Amino acid sequence: MPGDAEYDLVSVGGGFAGMIAAYRGAQLGLRTAVIERGSEDAYRCNSRFSGGLMHISYKDPANPAEELLSAINEITEGHASPALAKAIVSNCKRGLEWLQAEGARFARLDPSMQRADIGSRAWILAPVRPPVTHLEWKGRGADVTLRLLEQNLVKRGGAVHRGTSVSSLVMEQGHCRGVRVVGSDIAVRTIRASAVVLADGGFQGNREMALSHLTPKPEAVKQRGAGTGVGDGMRMAREAGADITALNAFYGHILCRDAMHNDRIWPYPQLDLLAAAGLLLNREGRRIADEGLGGVFMANAIAREADPLGTTVVFDEVIWHDSGRAAAVAPNPTLVTAGGTLHKANTLAELAHKLEMNATGLEGTVAAYNAAVAAATIGSLTPVRSNKRRKAQQVIVPPFYGAPACAGMTNTMGGVRIDGNARVLDANGTPIPGLFAAGATTGGLEGGPAVGYVGGLMKAVVFGLLAAECAAGGR
Ligand SMILES: Cc1cc2nc3c(=O)[nH]c(=O)nc-3n(C[C@H](O)[C@H](O)[C@H](O)COP(=O)(O)OP(=O)(O)OC[C@H]3O[C@@H](n4cnc5c(N)ncnc54)[C@H](O)[C@@H]3O)c2cc1C
Repeated sequence: MPGDAEYDLVSVGGGFAGMIAAYRGAQLGLRTAVIERGSEDAYRCNSRFSGGLMHISYKDPANPAEELLSAINEITEGHASPALAKAIVSNCKRGLEWLQAEGARFARLDPSMQRADIGSRAWILAPVRPPVTHLEWKGRGADVTLRLLEQNLVKRGGAVHRGTSVSSLVMEQGHCRGVRVVGSDIAVRTIRASAVVLADGGFQGNREMALSHLTPKPEAVKQRGAGTGVGDGMRMAREAGADITALNAFYGHILCRDAMHNDRIWPYPQLDLLAAAGLLLNREGRRIADEGLGGVFMANAIAREADPLGTTVVFDEVIWHDSGRAAAVAPNPTLVTAGGTLHKANTLAELAHKLEMNATGLEGTVAAYNAAVAAATIGSLTPVRSNKRRKAQQVIVPPFYGAPACAGMTNTMGGVRIDGNARVLDANGTPIPGLFAAGATTGGLEGGPAVGYVGGLMKAVVFGLLAAECAAGGR
């Protein structure tokens, strides 16, 4: 790092959000740098580990903006900030085209890998990761694209300081004027910058924060990602007077419980579709959540349980053969081939015995559920069952199956409050001069009671671009 580093813009974190902010800034003539805690060449971050699928609430980002806006409002049940929703739908297609112009390559999904609710023009970074259960990212689309953006940044005179951690912001009379950093080879020192973009990826890796906001037992929730987001950006923003949104939701999926100790069985397969077609039950054999709201919602519900390792996904032969095969990395058969536990029995009583679940509870729950599906009265079940994201179907054809589950937490949804230009807002809704935030460290777009998911990569791309453009425009 230069002796007296001074920049126009620095990004705190080198995932897609931070890298794109720094590179876009450099394109617009700013002197920019990424400050990244990871010291390896391919430092760990969720962006690099991701599957590279660009979507807006599972819709093709090239769809008309009004359609995308409705999808966001529907999935978040109106929770999304109108300014942020508008910003992302107005800029997502441009973001993809910008990435393409910078050399990123997109593949069209093979029809067999295509989710029914993602349009045929869905965008996925190439080369596409193979449909395997374990973490497989080296040389895949997201990794290749992140490296490409870094090379482009350096070609334009930007810098990437690895092995360097931002510890606090330099605030002068309410303006952010830079950051203080620590690193393996440097003591605390100051880097001055006219604009700072917080892009440190959320707080899922911070045990105390997870305990305060997401789960009574963080150690019983699987870290379904790099775990490198530890809430630093949010802490620094709060110290600078920023407003913080609700923090009680994360993006994640239901995983096989063996993922807690078997690295071959995460980040896939997800048990989301099996649970959404069947039942998510506790040790008493009682339902814990509205399965119709889908896997991201249920993963949060599992994490909030007093015993997050006490839930099981229960389904029948029909569900195992249709929903079980519906994903790119389908639980049928990968759950079993990767070493996951799947119990099977011809009666519910026998299944309960194998699962060490209360048999009377299981039989009573399934009977009441099947009756409600048949009579179209699922709304009167407790907890309510809806058909909002997945339609309920009877669990009636033996053999019956039980897959012990756990919550897989990828990245948090709440965080630093920003406006539609990625400017960090204070409690009065006024931008804090010089301070921006982008990606998973920000809140306000996703979450709410139904835990609506919009899309981590598109959020990182769009708000990374907007932060740089606003910083460049405001010079
Ligand atoms: C297995 C997996 C699959 C996924 N698939 C998809 C997908 O297909 N589509 C999709 O939309 N989303 C997907 N996601 C989610 C998506 O990857 C994230 O939402 C997104 O990448 C977040 O980007 P980011 O730049 O905000 O954070 P990150 O990529 O996490 O980057 C944050 C960076 O900040 C650094 N950092 C943290 N604190 C500091 C500090 N104090 N100082 C300096 N640096 C710091 C970290 O080391 C890290 O490198 C997936 C995630 C995973 C794990």
